[in-house]
Amino acid sequence: MSNIVNGKEMSEKILNEVKQELKFEMIKPSVAVIQIGNNSASDKYVSNKMKACEDVGIYFRHHQFEAGTSELTIVNKIKELNNDDYVNGIIVQLPVPSNYNEKRLINSIINSKDVDGLTDINAGRLIHGKKTLIPCTAMAVMEILDQNNVELSGKNFVIVGRGKLVGRPLMELMLERDATVTICHSKTENLSEYTKKADILVSATGINNLITAEMVKKGVIVIDVGINFEEGKQSGDVDFDSVSKKASLITPNPGGVGPMTVAMLIKNVMTCFRNKKK
Ligand code: NDP
Repeated sequence: MSNIVNGKEMSEKILNEVKQELKFEMIKPSVAVIQIGNNSASDKYVSNKMKACEDVGIYFRHHQFEAGTSELTIVNKIKELNNDDYVNGIIVQLPVPSNYNEKRLINSIINSKDVDGLTDINAGRLIHGKKTLIPCTAMAVMEILDQNNVELSGKNFVIVGRGKLVGRPLMELMLERDATVTICHSKTENLSEYTKKADILVSATGINNLITAEMVKKGVIVIDVGINFEEGKQSGDVDFDSVSKKASLITPNPGGVGPMTVAMLIKNVMTCFRNKKK
């Protein structure tokens, strides 16, 4: 049986440290979330972020727009928040409805407040190995591996999913740490040929039970990022019951990467807050 990562416990430790630090601040940090339209998964993510922020002492502003709101109105709100000295971080909650230009909205955020690390400039800085704000879920995966003392240098690191929130930034972070990186996606032929070679496997697709025990080698480390909701119940990409029998370390889903992603968001807000104070 493998070691199971307790993402909730790990995240609470980080959140407690931030809470202690903020006790001594006269002016508290603040983060603003722009949400467009109704999406029950987004509602849940936003409320998780709000709860974590309020628990540690970060002001949370929720700007909810109806799906018909003009893009210009939303861009103008982002610009207003860019210029607001009391706002340290800005998030455009994804996905936005398909009639909006997601890239334009994200790139309206000033880089120094881009706590999701998604503007073209911040993503480019990551590729060039420069200090930047890093997408929270990719950071969460690194933090889980580091806190569990997983050696990365020279290891076969396989990522399933090449999305901009997880797969792509993680590829850069792992290359920086000297892992040998393979990235798979929906057009990859014979996926299991690659997953079987993984010392560390991250799956970030949103396909329920995509990764089964036959697809991994004994002793593998498995990080399950993908999220699926079926009949209101959350599950991940990994068939946990079978894969956990072969893995040396595995994240449950829920209770693994999710809470750590929220903790990394708080870390990014704190980075922006400290940078502003300098
Ligand atoms: P994207 O939709 O951007 O990327 C999904 C990726 O999965 C794509 O690269 C796609 O390939 C690949 N894919 C789809 N089907 C298959 C398949 N059958 N075999 C191999 N690869 C496949 O999603 P994100 O990167 O934004 O998010 C990925 C998942 O992680 C989602 O389920 C999301 O909900 C979850 N997530 C979880 C978070 C957490 O806190 N736990 C936070 C953020 C995201 P292609 O590029 O070819 O289309």
